Amino acid sequence: MLSTLRSIVQELNGINNLQDALDTIAARVQTAMHTEVCSVYLYDDKSGCYVLKATEGLYKSAVGQVRIAPSEGLVGLVGTREEPINLEDAQKHPRNRYFPETGEERFGSFLGVPIIHHRRVLGVIVVQETQNSRRFDEGEEAFLVTISAQLAGVIAHSEATGAIGGISISGDQARDVAFSGVAGAQGVAIGTGVVVFPPADLDSVPDKRCEDVDAEIERFRAAVSAVRDDVEQVGERLAPQLRPEEQALFEVYLRMLHDHALPGEVENRIREGLWAPGSLKAVVNQYVRHFEMMGDHYLRERAVDIRDLGRRLLSHLQEGESETPEYPERTILVSDELTPAMLGEVPQGQLAGLVSVRGSGNSHVAILARAMGVPTVMGLVDIPVAQLDGRELIVDGYEGQIFASPSTELKAFFESIIEEEQELVKGLEELRDKPCETLDGHRIPLFVNTGLITDVVRSLSHGAEGIGLYRTEVPFMINERFPSEQEQKAYYREQLEAFAPAEVTMRTLDIGGDKALTYFPIVEENPFLGWRGIRVTLDHPEVFLVQIRAMIKASEGLDNLRIMLPMISNVSEIEEAQHLIYRAWHEVRDEGYQLAMPQVGVMIEIPAAVYQVREIAARVDFVSVGSNDLTQYLLAVDRNNPRVASLYHSYHPAVLQALCQVAQDCHDVGKPVSICGELAGDPGGAILLLAMGYDALSMNASNLPRIKSVIRGIDMDMARGLLAEVLTLDSPHVIRSCVELALRKAGIGRFIRPERSGSGVRELAASRE
Ligand code: PEP
Ligand code: MG
Repeated sequence: MLSTLRSIVQELNGINNLQDALDTIAARVQTAMHTEVCSVYLYDDKSGCYVLKATEGLYKSAVGQVRIAPSEGLVGLVGTREEPINLEDAQKHPRNRYFPETGEERFGSFLGVPIIHHRRVLGVIVVQETQNSRRFDEGEEAFLVTISAQLAGVIAHSEATGAIGGISISGDQARDVAFSGVAGAQGVAIGTGVVVFPPADLDSVPDKRCEDVDAEIERFRAAVSAVRDDVEQVGERLAPQLRPEEQALFEVYLRMLHDHALPGEVENRIREGLWAPGSLKAVVNQYVRHFEMMGDHYLRERAVDIRDLGRRLLSHLQEGESETPEYPERTILVSDELTPAMLGEVPQGQLAGLVSVRGSGNSHVAILARAMGVPTVMGLVDIPVAQLDGRELIVDGYEGQIFASPSTELKAFFESIIEEEQELVKGLEELRDKPCETLDGHRIPLFVNTGLITDVVRSLSHGAEGIGLYRTEVPFMINERFPSEQEQKAYYREQLEAFAPAEVTMRTLDIGGDKALTYFPIVEENPFLGWRGIRVTLDHPEVFLVQIRAMIKASEGLDNLRIMLPMISNVSEIEEAQHLIYRAWHEVRDEGYQLAMPQVGVMIEIPAAVYQVREIAARVDFVSVGSNDLTQYLLAVDRNNPRVASLYHSYHPAVLQALCQVAQDCHDVGKPVSICGELAGDPGGAILLLAMGYDALSMNASNLPRIKSVIRGIDMDMARGLLAEVLTLDSPHVIRSCVELALRKAGIGRFIRPERSGSGVRELAASRE
């Protein structure tokens, strides 16, 4: 059964057309299970019925004709119960219903399994027999459940592909279908999708049309000839070291590159109008699946060679491509995995929105997007990315949804939200030079989190009082090698100068987790629990020392630098880092610089540090809480994983308790404590942190004006009352509702994300919010 299952699954993955996939399933399952009938019913949203879509054993004329309501028959019962139903004699079941069009009255035994994707029932798969005495055994039931799970993915993908083009699974028009992911950065954007992808990665190549077929074929032929030359040269060079059977591999490669084989098929696709990289991807994938299905181990392994060949051809094709795609006026950048470098390539003023398949609301690229004020949706795991290129898209960064091919009504609805946002922002500009204080005069400075130099410009215009967190890894990430001491000094000087004499807190390099440097790859099973932040830099004192020296030198004449250490989990890390910082400071002074020793602080981001915060705070000048990581580690929820995004609660009672304790303990030992996680930029979060006694809040520049407005609209009694109330609650959802209610009561409800009602939107993927 296992090998049958594998070959059916592989065959299924190779089929692009939904009807072909359903017909194949019906036929293969019927044969594999030796049953008389196998049928697939899909749920049709419009009619609210299960429609017979494919069958082996029932009358073919019934396909598309038989419609079963959820309250009808055994198929309806399987769908409603969302579990398999296995009956020895279906005729005796009270829900059994006879559909004359199918001829199924002859059948007795019945096994029906729901087809479920992300908690949504997409259909039902059924096998039937005439012999009343036969009951499908456990193995058969498990087989059908496994097939159904695979089929669910294929159906969902096909549904999503159709919906992007405005067609539903039943072939009707599908307008305003929402694809749900996770909110990345607030705001709404309407624009045109531009799919960007990493080089030489076949899987992420989008399916674009080509304008000039002949030129595209020429381009492809040039790539084939270049790869053929490469293979020949490598083969000749290695010949003396290889055994004949190994040399034969090069022959295989060259044969595959023969005109009639792979290249011929790719050219056929190009003639159908697909561009060369997309045609290559389709043909290579088809070959790979074909090889993977082979029984022979040696031949199965050849799939690897095909993939390798495909990658080589793609890489040559990409050499010929213009370096940068064309970016329309309002670009919605779409990628399997967005990187800061991809964002940086869009010309200034043209980046309207971001869409990423991977990552979640607290991934670093989402944080960067928030800092830039670009509406973003992350974790759109079920979306066929390649189809979004060139399409009109709406990005709803409040709900974490996108829409392709929107109706005029839906566009008008979102345009009105954009206008409202612009009005709100205009109203906040006048607050720029006003202090951040409550109605009863409690003052709390608002700092900004920065990474790019554009953040600095925005922060100044938004009235930030200093930098609470400069993420130094950002300039490292947009470089192609470690920046030199001189280069780093120039980056840091810009930040320090812009805010002097106000303080600028620079965090030492915090890489690892979801922050990768292309030139310093860290590959780990469990990156968020691995080599991250201070752990990396203490292991590489040469990198750490250069960075500290650059920071210290950059502060000459300004003396507004504070150095902050990320990911501290024990006191010896602080002592080791302090030792290196002293060393760097002495070295710089020995070079003739006249500088005061900068203040050194730490981030509290790991639960262990919460319990040791007194010992930690006693050793440093200041403490800042990184609530993004603290939340992920307290709740054991990967901040980058959309599958568990709904479990990442900043208002979780455990998180709030930890934040209270850190503030209390730092003050008990006489050290200032601030917060630089995203919670500080959340209106409700800011009020709670104020009540907990935090000395400063640091957030992205986009959120700063609204937080100032929120704090200027409340008094300390309101903040303390709200904190006391939420600390008695045990559910993050109830806490959120309680906080939102309090904001509305205080007349500052306009800062809560807008409600969308009555817009006729249908959700395709289960919302993870
Ligand atoms: C945090 O973890 O809260 C933080 C501010 O650091 P980062 O988001 O860069 O990990
Ligand atoms: Mg962190």
